[in-house]
Formats: sequence, C-alpha cells, structure tokens
Amino acid sequence: MMGPHDLLLVVDVQNDFCPGGNLPVADGDQVVPVINRLLPQFRNVVLTQDWHPLDHASFASMHPGKSPYDTIGMPYGEQTLWPDHCIQGSDGAAFHPDLETDGALAVIRKGMNASVDSYSAFTENDRSTPTGLGGLLGALHIQRVFLVGLAFDFCVGWSATDARAHGYEAIVIEDATRPVDLPGTVDAAREAFRDAGVAVTVSREVRGGGAVGKGRPSG
Ligand SMILES: [Zn+2]
Repeated sequence: MMGPHDLLLVVDVQNDFCPGGNLPVADGDQVVPVINRLLPQFRNVVLTQDWHPLDHASFASMHPGKSPYDTIGMPYGEQTLWPDHCIQGSDGAAFHPDLETDGALAVIRKGMNASVDSYSAFTENDRSTPTGLGGLLGALHIQRVFLVGLAFDFCVGWSATDARAHGYEAIVIEDATRPVDLPGTVDAAREAFRDAGVAVTVSREVRGGGAVGKGRPSG
C-alpha cells in the first residue's frame, strides 16, 4: 500500500485512445487491467479526461489543407494536429468501460479551451494556464506522483515532466502506458524524463510495495 502522500494519476484512459476509437493508441486498452490491479494500492487516485469542444484547434479538420499528425505553429508554439477525438460528452470521450473509476477522488478535464491544447494534466500547452491539478495536489500534501495511462509520449510524458516542475517526485509505470509512437516521440519522452528526473518503473515493482525497492515475487 502506498502512503498518504502518494498519488496515482490515471491519464486519459478513454475510448477514443483505445482500439476502435478516433485516435487509437496501439494496444491502448491493454493498460486497463494493469491499472485496475494498481488502483487498490493507492488511497489517492485522480483521473484525467481529454475533453474537447467540437471546434478544438488541435483537430486537423479545423485547418484546411492539413492532415492528422501534421504540425502547425500556434501562438504558443508547435502543435501536432490530431483526428477529431474526445469531444465533450461523446462515447469516445468516456472512460474505457472496464476502467475502475469509482475510487478516484477527482477527474481533471483538460483541453477544454478551443484555442489551446493540453497534453499535461497540470498546465495547458501555452505553458501558463493551470488545469487545477497542481492546487489539488498541494492541498492533499502529495509528494510522489505515479503516472499511468495514455499516451506515454504525449499526455503521460508531459504530465510527468510537469509533475517534476511542480516539485513532486514523478514515477511513470511503463507497462501501464502505451505510446502514440510518432517518429521520434518515444525517444524524446525518454530524454525529457532523464533531463527532468522522472523515474520509470514497472507495475510489478509498485504492487510489490515500492517503486524503487525489490518487488515481491509475483504468482
Ligand atoms: Zn486531445
């Protein structure tokens, strides 16, 4: 069991990021049983939910002549364009039906500003607008943030480095994530983790009682 200052941040485990969704991550649904096994270890669980208006600026459909996975310059910097996804209230924006959500203390919705994307659960892509998660974690006296969900190289990755920027220990549980895996994005995420001091572990180690200690033999 993790302690009162530990938090599990479950990032964007939503239908649109799973096979059959509008922005599917390969094997994205396979994180669900891994996360469900981790949940009982944590008394503090927060879920995030990508939650876009119909006319969100990250949608390639909003930019004539552009295709999904192109990049464009936004006032706040370079932005990857995506298929329309996680539209507020849609089935695609719903959590994966098998994800156990009942024990979460909060759901942070992000990407609600039509003109700014938000990969990080802490701060929108303009790098200045807070989502509110930082305030919540401060009020809860959280010290360590464990991260799981979708996707490793975007929303999990940006949330992990932002957790460090907010002064938390950050540990990504890699087998409870999957990457979008555009050219270079997984390597870039790993480099960002090294630079920011984000640790990477596997779920067996966490369920064994510590992210850095030896895991209890499984089976
Ligand atoms: Zn999105």
